[in-house]
Amino acid sequence: MIGLSMPDVDAWSDRVVTVLGQNPGAFTGPGTNTYLVGTSARPVLLDTGQGVAAWLPLVERALDEHRGGRELQEVVVTHAHVDHVGGVPQVRERFGRMRVVKRPWPGHDAPVGDDLVVADEGTVVETEGATLRAIHTPGHAEDHLCWWLEEERAVFTGDVVLGAGTTVIPEHGGDLLDYMNSLRRLLELEPSVLYPAHGPAVRDAGKKIREYIAHRELRERQILDRLAAGESRVPEIVAVLYADVPAFLHGAAGTSVRSHLRKLEREGRVRRDGDDWSLVG
Ligand SMILES: [Zn+2]
Repeated sequence: MIGLSMPDVDAWSDRVVTVLGQNPGAFTGPGTNTYLVGTSARPVLLDTGQGVAAWLPLVERALDEHRGGRELQEVVVTHAHVDHVGGVPQVRERFGRMRVVKRPWPGHDAPVGDDLVVADEGTVVETEGATLRAIHTPGHAEDHLCWWLEEERAVFTGDVVLGAGTTVIPEHGGDLLDYMNSLRRLLELEPSVLYPAHGPAVRDAGKKIREYIAHRELRERQILDRLAAGESRVPEIVAVLYADVPAFLHGAAGTSVRSHLRKLEREGRVRRDGDDWSLVG
């Protein structure tokens, strides 16, 4: 995703305006997409970026230029990672206290504080011209909610499906089995477009989600093959499967392989003995 550039403010539909979080990086690509959702002068803000000072003036510019407004109805959040909730204190300072709607994740919601309004599967947030419904999609993060935009059959996918690059399944709070189930749930909704937290909108939504599923399924088969060949440790498996990837990325590759092994362990297909993994049966 490095090198992919996107406009700071852009209208992606009649009711969706994106504002780039000004936090580009190896894992955030061009930066976090934050969104104004709704057609009124007082729309919903979906995600808040990382708390970069240059971001909030762009939100104000987007409100003025695209909605002729100076206020927000409320904030809706996909998940508690810092590049999604880090801007909440800035928003509060500029626009005053307001509802911050998210699924709680104890120990991770400090930037939101007392303004947290509990959302979970099925929670509906309405604003003029837009109806958002929460879909609990754990796997990248325990608290992750995707938000279904009824009027467009669109999904704000947060970090579950990205516009470029692949999603990380972190050791803390991540779970690949949950993640695969979350992808299948999104596929069943037959969305017409995905609005991701990083990278451009995905107009061929079904194809992209199927690619995500196929990529993980291929990796799983490769890992099972390595175990069958007698390799038992993560660095050995990484060395074979990621032979064409620069060594500085092998740490991230190890995280990915471990996420697969933990999934297979949950499914009773592999077992672990210290650092050694082996097939069951
Ligand atoms: Zn995240």
